[in-house]
Amino acid sequence: MITLKTRAEIEIMYRAGQLVAETLAFLEGQVAPGLQTLELDRMAEARIRAAGAVPAFKGYMGFPFTLCISINEQVVHGFPSERTLVEGDLLSIDCGAIVNGYYSDAAITVRVGRLSREAETLLTTTQSCLDHAIDQMWVGNRLQDIGHTVQTIAEAKGYGVVKDFVGHGIGRKLHEEPQVPNWGKPNRGPRLKAGMVLAVEPMINAGTEKVRVLDDQWTAVTCDDSWSAHFEHSIAITDHGPKVLTALAA
Ligand code: MG
Ligand code: MG
Repeated sequence: MITLKTRAEIEIMYRAGQLVAETLAFLEGQVAPGLQTLELDRMAEARIRAAGAVPAFKGYMGFPFTLCISINEQVVHGFPSERTLVEGDLLSIDCGAIVNGYYSDAAITVRVGRLSREAETLLTTTQSCLDHAIDQMWVGNRLQDIGHTVQTIAEAKGYGVVKDFVGHGIGRKLHEEPQVPNWGKPNRGPRLKAGMVLAVEPMINAGTEKVRVLDDQWTAVTCDDSWSAHFEHSIAITDHGPKVLTALAA
């Protein structure tokens, strides 16, 4: 069942979203060649706890960290580690926080120094997939309009749209109904309604869409070692259009 949130609930989720947005913006500013990704995890956890909030991922299904850190051919759910970032790495950072019992979830892919032209295009295209998907999130449109938009933009570049992981409803739980796939047909699926809050998260591979999970049981990587990018926002659908809870307020 898809639960609709009240305006008061969305206001709390906005606070959770802003904390995640501020944390990701701070982390992006710290990223540089030579940094260990475990340092990013420590900084993120400290900032979230200092705000009186709780990291959403730590302990979730046994996940051991505050952030998911996925580099280059890693798609999602990678572990922060003592691995040192190097110039040209494509780094995705996924972060979640709980404020007053409500979840927020967002991810960015960032450049470590200067990217290859191929990686740069993958990053900007994946960002564009998310931006255009959000433009579909108006009352009266349908759920698959979101994924159809992602798929159309990504496949026009010859990229693989990851099918093994999807976006999701979010609220009192990290993952609620409905699932929000990054593919679909236009004008299909449930109607979008005011009060739905969805985490939309295109995961786009430069090569095959196929992924596999490493022996750590978490880290998903592309089957052909092509690189992958990931952007995510938590978005409330309102009568006035999409409200991106995890976009930093101007
Ligand atoms: Mg996420
Ligand atoms: Mg998510």
